[in-house]
Amino acid sequence: MSMPLLLQKICTQCGELKPLSKFYRSAAAKDRHMAECAACTRARVDASKAWRREHLGEAEYLLRQRETARRSRASGRTDYRPTKARTLALLELGRRHPKEYAALVRLERAHLGLDPTPQSQK
Ligand SMILES: [Zn+2]
Repeated sequence: MSMPLLLQKICTQCGELKPLSKFYRSAAAKDRHMAECAACTRARVDASKAWRREHLGEAEYLLRQRETARRSRASGRTDYRPTKARTLALLELGRRHPKEYAALVRLERAHLGLDPTPQSQK
């Protein structure tokens, strides 16, 4: 490949050298692009969504999504970057620490009034 190295980047996930255009943009990153490539990001997010759908149930999963968006609008937030960063952090937590993540989900549901009495673990 004759592409200048500056326009390429090694994905931290798959380890492949790819053009920057294959990475999602990230305002927080030094080079304004995420550390992992778009394909890896999509795979990770899809896996996390599937995990959450499976563990929360489809209805609760969608209900939570809607509730989060509603709260975001209600708070007058128009900049979604912190929310996105938080979502990514949550996905990471879900991937690495499923139990802690499940506990957090229960706390959030209680906080949102979706589940006033947190269920005990089965
Ligand atoms: Zn990758």
